[in-house]
Amino acid sequence: MEDMKDIGSIFDSMRIVSGEDTEDTGSNGVRHCRVCGEPLETIFEVSGRKFKGAIRCACMRERDHEAYQYELACRRNEMRKKCFRNKQLYAYNFKNDNGKAEKLSKVRNYAEQFEEMMKGKDPYGLLLSGGVGSGKSFAACCVCNYLLDHDISCIFTDFTKILSDLQNCEDLETYFRRLKNTPLLVLDDFGAQRGTSYADETVFRVINDRIETKKPMILTTNIPMKEFYRVLESDNSEDIPAKRIYSRILSGCIPVVYNGPDLRRLVAEENRNRFAESLGL
Ligand SMILES: [Zn+2]
Repeated sequence: MEDMKDIGSIFDSMRIVSGEDTEDTGSNGVRHCRVCGEPLETIFEVSGRKFKGAIRCACMRERDHEAYQYELACRRNEMRKKCFRNKQLYAYNFKNDNGKAEKLSKVRNYAEQFEEMMKGKDPYGLLLSGGVGSGKSFAACCVCNYLLDHDISCIFTDFTKILSDLQNCEDLETYFRRLKNTPLLVLDDFGAQRGTSYADETVFRVINDRIETKKPMILTTNIPMKEFYRVLESDNSEDIPAKRIYSRILSGCIPVVYNGPDLRRLVAEENRNRFAESLGL
């Protein structure tokens, strides 16, 4: 509905600047706009000869601006459609922060620094870990909407959807390339996907592609950080597929723990630092 209103106002301003609303003032022989009074022509000299050239009056400039804004709104709307499958997520915005959502200010800092971070050599992602309903997905949506408002495209998806898409996908390479190249990839509810070896391979491929191309991602997960660290230190053969994936995630994402008591957060940070040290970072 918002878009329709914009189109109406553009047509209104186009009527205003149509030919019949212009007139010659006669003072210097150039046409002027009857609405804003500004000249519609200018006289200039080249090698002693005089020429008349068209210029845009204030109403035309305003119309140009409105058309630009409309085009921008359409483009962002298209980007938002490509980012989210659910329109309800369009409204998840930092502007709707009531101050109660945990860690939102930190995630907001991340969004605000994203463009600057991307100019550096090692852009980092986030691993938002915590219980159900702690606001992790909301925070990740807010980042996407913030970036989309700054003309940076994102994809918000999850592995259950990715695996389902792949079953019906005719062009796998294009599908994977899109996940690989988007400036920000959000993988919501990581760990909820079924754990077949095909699923593990797909998860590893998507995550590894992001890490190798130094493109950031945000993962939200109910898997507690202590489970990440347990798996990383595990020698059990059944932990090997997850270990490979978790190791890639933590090499490119900074953990943000939701709903944890301070002690747990401190332990997680300590473990993270220990892990970073073991990587020689
Ligand atoms: Zn005018």
